[in-house]
Amino acid sequence: MDMSDPLDLHAAETRALRARRLVQIALLVMVAMAIAMVFYAIKGSWQVVTPLVVGVFCMAGCLWLNARGHTDAANDVLISAVTLSMYSLVWVAEGLHDAALFTFPVLLILGGLLLRPLAFGVLLASQIAFLVILTMATEVWGWRVDATSSSNFELLRDVSMILLVGGVAVGLVVADLHRLLAHLRLQVQQQDVAQKELTYLSQHDGLTGLPNRAMGRQMLGQAIEHAARRNLGVALLFVDLDHFKHVNDTLGHDAGDEFLRKIALRLSAAVRGADIVARHGGDEFTMALTDVADAQDASTVAANVLRSLAEPIVIKGHELQAGCSIGVALFPQDGKDYASLLRAADIAMYQAKESGRNAFRFYSEEMNAQHQHAMTMASELRSALARDEFVLHYQPIVCLADGHLLGAEALVRWQHPTRGLLAPDQFIAAAEKSGLIVDLGQWVLLAACRQMRAWQVSGLTGLVVAVNLSPVQFRRGEVDAVVAQALQETGLPPEALELEIVESTLIDDTESFIVALGRIKALGVRIAIDDFGTGYSNLAYLQRFAVDKLKIDRSFVMHVSSDPQQRALVEAIVQMARSLSLTTTAEGIEDEAVRQLLLGLGCVQGQGYHFARPLSVADFEAYARHQVPARG
Ligand code: C2E
Ligand code: CA
Ligand code: CA
Repeated sequence: MDMSDPLDLHAAETRALRARRLVQIALLVMVAMAIAMVFYAIKGSWQVVTPLVVGVFCMAGCLWLNARGHTDAANDVLISAVTLSMYSLVWVAEGLHDAALFTFPVLLILGGLLLRPLAFGVLLASQIAFLVILTMATEVWGWRVDATSSSNFELLRDVSMILLVGGVAVGLVVADLHRLLAHLRLQVQQQDVAQKELTYLSQHDGLTGLPNRAMGRQMLGQAIEHAARRNLGVALLFVDLDHFKHVNDTLGHDAGDEFLRKIALRLSAAVRGADIVARHGGDEFTMALTDVADAQDASTVAANVLRSLAEPIVIKGHELQAGCSIGVALFPQDGKDYASLLRAADIAMYQAKESGRNAFRFYSEEMNAQHQHAMTMASELRSALARDEFVLHYQPIVCLADGHLLGAEALVRWQHPTRGLLAPDQFIAAAEKSGLIVDLGQWVLLAACRQMRAWQVSGLTGLVVAVNLSPVQFRRGEVDAVVAQALQETGLPPEALELEIVESTLIDDTESFIVALGRIKALGVRIAIDDFGTGYSNLAYLQRFAVDKLKIDRSFVMHVSSDPQQRALVEAIVQMARSLSLTTTAEGIEDEAVRQLLLGLGCVQGQGYHFARPLSVADFEAYARHQVPARG
């Protein structure tokens, strides 16, 4: 049997049942009529026997119709045949006093159960009409005369038989109805269970069993309504796992799923029963804390969550650490509804991430302003790149001993259509945050290489161009490929290119970073550590990554002549660099005294306003031509 509609299946069963019922009732009536026939034949009442004989034949016709599948028609024939034979019996026998009259209500009940409403109406009307005609025919028109009354025993026999046959027939049909009703009730129950299951599935996350985003929204909405009526607070925590992608990438998706399930359990354990933990999607969860008195309450829970997730999670024998960043928004101060609270918590979560992850932050108006600013900035930067509004300035890097030009650091500026020439500190951070730095950095690299190649071709040889690379470019872009492509496209020899990276880039020593750096070094491009001294100043890293140069940060250089401590620090850096065979460049030299001092400390190269500010291409060319010619 195919998987047809269960309702169809049910209809087929019902049809079979009705057919069986008809056979039983028809046979029953047939037997009863045959028995009655025998009695009246013995008695010699042939006018009674005739309708009974016709009745028996009609029952046989019924069975025949039913066997051919016409159960409905057979039903109609059965009821009408019995009715008509009873009419004739009553007519030829005792009229209104005949026992056959007892069949009328039985026929009505059977008709009500078996016939269509119209046919039932006809049946009822015909019974009344028959009785009226019978009475008139007897009393007024004189068409017929009642036969002599049967004895009470004969009456008892006939009535008993009618009641017996009628009772059994009605009982059979009513039992069917009961069965049908029970069946329907069961079906309704099953549908109810299925409906409940469907509702559960549509409201819960299949993986963790937590309420899903839609349900989370609905529940928080209710919590807010409740809190508003009672003047209570609600806190919404937006939890985003740090580095979840890493789990998926390294251990596979099954492990990732397992990881999320365990996180869900810990999150649920960190709150009270009335609080609502929901899976927002991916590695994001929301936690709604109800009845929160003040920010302190929320911060206690947030701290608990951080602590609980910091406990190692063991999956497939690997011990994993699940850090997370949490943004907290409070009802009513940060938002009056789900959407605004979620937005606020989301902004706060980003702030937490930016602050170095594994932290929580409360939303503030100021954060919102920052967020708005960053969003506008990101879209402006995108169009600036498309409209070619960035330019490079070049700041000379010179030999501290004799001042001859060694190269230039390419520094980007934004030629803003309304705000004029913008310095990098006004847009680099936003470009890094939005990821646009990947495209911008690629543009800078290509433009700087092309410019240096053009200078080489025009006879300005022996110079190195230094290009700043953001840590984000290492994290998101295929830096090594971009560098190789820039060299290839512009024809610049690799020794004429230097890349400046900040110390924090080294600290983030992921596998992909090590590979990228190795490839860049293999191209023959040099690496300089920018702003050295402000970060970790980790010797081991410098050796491990075989960097070529340290750029001593401006903040030390500026006060080197006035502050003995700074001087000692710069001296130490230079010594260390020398022992590792690294070149040193001092940034931010603003006067002659500082130059001499640094030279005395053993520093080799310098850069700063004392020599030149960052210059436009034309100005740099003019500067270069007035230079002391390089020795050798
Ligand atoms: P940085 O790499 O440390 O660049 C040197 C900065 O110091 C430049 O600022 C330069 O104008 C300034 N400077 C040079 N000499 C002196 C001096 O004697 N005194 C003072 N007070 N300042 C001096 P600028 O051009 O505003 O760049 C700021 C920062 O923006 C750069 O710092 C660098 O981190 C970033 N940046 C610039 N261009 C790019 C780029 O193309 N890509 C990336 N990722 N970052 C860039
Ligand atoms: Ca730099
Ligand atoms: Ca620097």
